[in-house]
Amino acid sequence: MHIDPIKLSRELLAFNTINPPGQELNCIRHLERILSEAGLQTSVHVFAPDRANLIARIGESNGKSPLCFTGHVDTVPLGNAAWSVDPFAGDIVDGKLYGRGTSDMKCGVAAFVAAICGMTEILRDTRGAVLVITAGEEIGCEGAFELARAGVLGQAGAIVVAEPTSNVAVVGHKGALWLKLILRGVTAHGSMPHLGVNAAYKAARAITLLENFQFNTAPHPYLGSPTLNIGTVHAGLNVNSVPDRAEIGVDIRSIPGSITPTSSDSCRRNLATGPNLKRWSTSVPCGPIPPHALDRAGLRHRWQRDRQDDRNRAADGALFHRRFSPDAGIRQSADHHSWPRRSGESTPDR
Ligand SMILES: [Zn+2]
Repeated sequence: MHIDPIKLSRELLAFNTINPPGQELNCIRHLERILSEAGLQTSVHVFAPDRANLIARIGESNGKSPLCFTGHVDTVPLGNAAWSVDPFAGDIVDGKLYGRGTSDMKCGVAAFVAAICGMTEILRDTRGAVLVITAGEEIGCEGAFELARAGVLGQAGAIVVAEPTSNVAVVGHKGALWLKLILRGVTAHGSMPHLGVNAAYKAARAITLLENFQFNTAPHPYLGSPTLNIGTVHAGLNVNSVPDRAEIGVDIRSIPGSITPTSSDSCRRNLATGPNLKRWSTSVPCGPIPPHALDRAGLRHRWQRDRQDDRNRAADGALFHRRFSPDAGIRQSADHHSWPRRSGESTPDR
């Protein structure tokens, strides 16, 4: 069945799937209709109101694991600046397609859906292909976690993730560990701060310590060094009170071995202010694929042109690896034990 990937990209852009709140269900149903009409076996996995993932399969007739293509249909918000085009119209100007989520990653999803719909006759008699199209990637891979937990992924020989990397194969990426540091104080009237304990000052001291945090791990030859960023700081409810609670959001991008089960404890010990530390989200470092596998796929020369920036980002693929068969092409470091754990913290909890 012929699908025009540009037309399909524009159709996907018309669905507002800004995350939060996501609301990807209609977009997922649209893709499900196309794929099932093309002859793929489809299943929609709803995990929250208006939110769902899609799995579509074809082939798998000779007992070998299929090739998996995965992508997400949620997008980041529009931002504060006014857009010069309609973010949901998919206008084409000077040969470029514009809209929220065009490159990340509705075009990628449209490309592999169109490719597979055009190859169904060939794929039926091969090891086949499985498409895993997710919701909720942008805020901690919620959809991918749900699929991994549900045990519905089956087998895959290798995973191709359609994240935008300027058409260059990126064969591994860092993990992401997001932490919330919660610092407690004692509130008092702002005119009498000596009667309280100011949680904002505790947060300031913790931030200064974290600015100089050392991972004490050698750089990975492909992934480079781990990084730590303070992404959010919140304290206080009104200007004339001593804040009794402060919260710091920490984003660590890990390499194999840089985050261990004891990392949280050592992080807490290093912060003399003693914050309550909660794991918000974890995704493991992934790859790189060994050079001989790249040679087999004819990808080595392209891999060598990729950009470090693309290796720093985490994606759904790492979450799928352990739920697919052991021969999946994206591999996970054996010394990384933090996979995946619910923190008990509120939304988004995973
Ligand atoms: Zn993406």
